[in-house]
Amino acid sequence: MNDQMLQEERFSPFVRVTLRIWIKTYRSIQSLVSPFFDLILRLLVAQAIFRSGLVKLGDWDTALNLARFEYPVSWMAPETAALVGLVIEIAGPVLLLLGLFTRGAAFSILLLLAVSQVEYVAIDLNLWLIAILGWYVLRGAGAFSFDRALAGGLGDSALPFSRPLMTCLGWLTKFGAPVWLWAVRLWLAVTLVVVMGISWIPGASTFLPLESFAGIHPAICNAFVAALILGLLMPVTAAALMLTLGGLAVMGLHPDLSLYPMLLFGLLLVFGAGAFSVDGVIANWLERNILFDRKYEDVPDHWPHIVVVGAGFGGLACVNRLKNLPVRITLIDRHNYHLFQPLLYQIATAALSPADVATPIRGLFRKDGNVRVVLGEVNAVDSKAKTLTYGQNSIDYDYLVLATGASHSYFGKDEWAPHAPGLKTIEDGVSVRAHVLRAFEKAESTSDPERVRRLLTFVIVGAGPTGVELAGAIAELAHHGLKDEFSRIDPSQARIILVQSGDRILPAFPEQLSAHAQASLEKLGVDVRLGGRVTNIAADHVQIGDEVTIDTETVLWAAGVIASPAGEWLGAETDRAGRVAVDAHLRVKGEQHVFAIGDTAGSDAWAGNPVPGLAPAAKQAGTYVANYIEKQLLNDESIAPFAYKHQGSLATIGRKSAVADFGFMQLHGAPAWWLWGAVHVGFLSGTRNRIAVLVNWIWSYFTQKLGIRLITVTDSGA
Ligand SMILES: Cc1cc2nc3c(=O)[nH]c(=O)nc-3n(C[C@H](O)[C@H](O)[C@H](O)COP(=O)(O)OP(=O)(O)OC[C@H]3O[C@@H](n4cnc5c(N)ncnc54)[C@H](O)[C@@H]3O)c2cc1C
Repeated sequence: MNDQMLQEERFSPFVRVTLRIWIKTYRSIQSLVSPFFDLILRLLVAQAIFRSGLVKLGDWDTALNLARFEYPVSWMAPETAALVGLVIEIAGPVLLLLGLFTRGAAFSILLLLAVSQVEYVAIDLNLWLIAILGWYVLRGAGAFSFDRALAGGLGDSALPFSRPLMTCLGWLTKFGAPVWLWAVRLWLAVTLVVVMGISWIPGASTFLPLESFAGIHPAICNAFVAALILGLLMPVTAAALMLTLGGLAVMGLHPDLSLYPMLLFGLLLVFGAGAFSVDGVIANWLERNILFDRKYEDVPDHWPHIVVVGAGFGGLACVNRLKNLPVRITLIDRHNYHLFQPLLYQIATAALSPADVATPIRGLFRKDGNVRVVLGEVNAVDSKAKTLTYGQNSIDYDYLVLATGASHSYFGKDEWAPHAPGLKTIEDGVSVRAHVLRAFEKAESTSDPERVRRLLTFVIVGAGPTGVELAGAIAELAHHGLKDEFSRIDPSQARIILVQSGDRILPAFPEQLSAHAQASLEKLGVDVRLGGRVTNIAADHVQIGDEVTIDTETVLWAAGVIASPAGEWLGAETDRAGRVAVDAHLRVKGEQHVFAIGDTAGSDAWAGNPVPGLAPAAKQAGTYVANYIEKQLLNDESIAPFAYKHQGSLATIGRKSAVADFGFMQLHGAPAWWLWGAVHVGFLSGTRNRIAVLVNWIWSYFTQKLGIRLITVTDSGA
C-alpha cells in the first residue's frame, strides 16, 4: 500500500467523495464568480471617483479651491496640483474600469485619497476605497480586463524590460495580493478592538474606519476579531460582517449603510483569507489528503480510471461532473475542440466564424489535475481486456463512457455525399459556406442564363430544425446579406427550395408551430415542397419523386442521421440508426463498465419513448453516468434508472422569427426568436465565444451585413 492509499484509508468513502465534491464545487463557483465580482468592483469604485472628477471638471474654481485643501503639496503650485488631481480622478477610473494599466491607475487614486485623508478630512469612505485599491495595486485586474488580455503577449514581446516587468507583476499577484488580504484582515480586527474600547490609538480615526463599525455588540466584535486574526472560514466571516452591518442599518442602529465596506468584505468572501490563515492551512491539508490534483502526476494511481470518448455535449457534461470525484479521467476526442453544433448552420451561412462556436477542450480542464485530455480517434474497444485503441495507442480503463455522437446518413445512397454536403463538423460548415458563396460568385461570372438560374437555386433536403434554419439563413443572405455586392446578378433572385418527404416541416413540433414556421419561411421567399422524396442527386440537379427535376449546383443535406460506429467497436446490439442498445442505467447491453450516451446511444428513457438526439438529452445522460459512478464509489446500490426530462424544442427562421415548444407553452415569432438567441448564447461554452457571437449578431442585426463572407476552401470547378 503506498502513502497516498494509507492517507486515504483514514477516511470513509463517504467523507472522501463528499468532501471532494463540495470543495471542487465551491472552487468552480468561486472561479466563475470572481471575474464578474472583480468587474463590478472596478465599476463601482471607478464611478465613485469619476463622479468627483466630473464635478471638479465642471467647475474649475471649486476644483482649484478644493485642491488647496485636499492635496496641499508644498512644492507644487495649486493649479498644477488641481490639474494632476483632476487628471487622476478622470483618467484613473476609466483605466480602472477597462482594466488597462490597472495597478498604476489604482496606485495614483490611492495616493490622492491617502493625501486627502491625512491632510483634509478623515472619512471612512476614503479608507475603504484605499483598502480596495491596494488590492488592485498588488493583484492587478481580473480576467475581464485589457491587462489580462495583453499580459501573455507583453511578457514575450521585444519591448525593453517587458519580460522582467511582467515577471515582477506576476510575483506581486502571487505573493503580494495574499499578504494584502492578510493585512486587511488585521486592519479590520484592530478597528474592531478599538471600537470595543479595549485599546485606543491616538488619531485612530485617520486610518481606522471606526464609524462604520459603531453599534456592533462587543461579543460579536470579539468573534469577528478572532475569526479575522486567525483567517478562519473567511467566506462565512465576510458574509457575517456584511449581514451584521446591513442588519444594524436596517434596524436603525447604525447611521447609514455604505456600499464600500460591503465591497471589501465581498473581496474577502470571493478571494478568501490570503496569507497566514487557518483557511490556508486547511486548504493545504485538503490538497494533500483529499484533492490530490494539483498536477496529473499527483493523482493517486489507485483511483478508478474513467475514459470518456467524445468531448461533445454528453462527454463534457460527464467529465464536468466526474472531475469532482476521486477518479482519474482521460478524455479522448478526434478534434481538439468542443463544437456547439446548434450554431453550425451560422458558419455555413457566413454569420459566424468557426472560432465563435468551438472551444478548445484542453482549456476547459486547465485547472483539473485529474483530467487528461488526449487528441486521438478511437477505432477499437476490447471490453474483456478493458482497453481501447486510438491510432497506434491503447489505453486501459475501469469505466468507459462512449459519447461519440452521430453523423449524417444518406440512407444507403453514399454516392450523393459529394453533391449534397451535410452539416456536422466545422469542416462541413466552412465547406458549405464556400459552396454557397461560390455559387453566387460563379453566377456573377457566367453569361449563360440557364446556368445562372441553376447556380442561384439552392435546395435543402430535410426540414427538421437544421434544414429550416439553413433555408431561412440562406434566404436572408440572398435578400439582405449580399445586397448591392454584385454588378451582374441580383442575389435576391435566388431560389431557395426546402424539400421535405413528410406532410409538414419540423415534424417534432406541434402542428400549429410547423404551420407558423412554414408561413415565416414562405415570407422570406423560401419555396417549401412537402411530400417530396428525393430519388437522385447529381452535380447539376436533384430529382424529387419520378417526375420533378430541379436544376441546381447546390444541394445541402439535412435529412438523415447515423450514430457513430461505437456499436461496431463493441460488437454490441444497435438499432437501424446505428445507436447502441443500452440498459436502464445507460450501460451498453451486456457490459458492466461501458456506457453509451447522447446521439450514439439508443435509449427509451423518455417515458418509454426514444430519447431524442438533442444537446440537453446528451448532457442529462452524461451527468447521469457520472452520478452512477459516484454511487458505485460510495458502494450505494440505490441507483434510479435514467429518465430523460424534455426541456423544450427551439428552431429559428431568419432574423425575427422562431418557434419554441415547451409542452405547457408554445411561442412563435419575435418572442420565440429572442428566447432562441438568449438560450443559445447562454449555453455556448466560454465567455469569449458568448461575447463574439453577441457582437456578431448585434452587428448583422442592425447592419444586415454578414462579416464572414470568406471562401476559404479551394474549388477546381469552373
Ligand atoms: C447542424 C446541427 C444542428 C443542431 N441543432 C440542435 C439544436 O438546435 N438543439 C439541440 O438540442 N440539438 C441540436 N443538434 C443536435 C445536438 O448537437 C446533438 O444531439 C448533440 O451534439 C449530441 O451530443 P453528443 O455528446 O452525443 O455528441 P457530439 O456533440 O456530436 O459529440 C461527439 C464528439 O465525439 C467525437 N468523436 C466522434 N467519434 C470519435 C472517435 N472515433 N474518436 C474520438 N472522438 C470521436 C467528436 O469529435 C465530437 O466531439 C444539432 C446537431 C447538428 C449537427
